Amino acid sequence: MSELLKCQALSKEYNEGENTVRVLNNINFTVNKAEQVAIVGSSGSGKSTLLHLLGALDQPSAGEVLFEQQNIFRFTDSQQAQFRNQSLGFVYQFHHLFSELTALENVMMPLQIRRIPIKAASKKAAELLEKVGLADRAQHKPSELSGGERQRVAIARALITDPACILADEPTGNLDYMSADQVFDLLLKLNAELGTALLIVTHDRSLASQMDR
Ligand code: ADP
Ligand code: MG
Repeated sequence: MSELLKCQALSKEYNEGENTVRVLNNINFTVNKAEQVAIVGSSGSGKSTLLHLLGALDQPSAGEVLFEQQNIFRFTDSQQAQFRNQSLGFVYQFHHLFSELTALENVMMPLQIRRIPIKAASKKAAELLEKVGLADRAQHKPSELSGGERQRVAIARALITDPACILADEPTGNLDYMSADQVFDLLLKLNAELGTALLIVTHDRSLASQMDR
């Protein structure tokens, strides 16, 4: 299997005056292309910190993250922005949709950032909304959608750039169990269908046990 994302001796500590909080200590792992991986840890164990590093949203104290053999911390700012926009899709516990935009407009946003013409962007967004089962909700705003539907919009937005990898931070943590199952099943289905690698961090072992690794 070919390697997509590789953490090498990754460490992160936060220094607050006299206090050092050592959150990640010499982490090593690899995610292969199209693979499904769960990383399980209790609250406060450093899961969100790890995902921030994988998205080059923060600097490590030591170690490297290689994406397709390239050290993401050596990218320039614009290369990092491009890496996040083109190679990764993010799904968070809270959907982070724009409340004043429709579902369709939210899903289009990453393509608009890439200056894709509006017609092409909206066509692709409509296709993604259909894939997540929300074709009939394209014109609805987040406040008019259920929690599970909002997360499905967030997943469509994460996938619209055809990323190589989805990074998901407790993506079902804020949902009732029925919606959580639906959202989780959708992530697995899209991973299989599109070959997008899926890395989920979660405290939920039963969820993690349904993934490849
Ligand atoms: P998780 O997502 O697994 O719940 P986090 O990665 O959010 O854990 O946090 C891991 C630890 O790092 C916690 O003890 C948290 O208090 C600490 N931490 C997170 N961000 C900061 C920060 N910016 N400054 C200091 N400590 C932080
Ligand atoms: Mg967290």
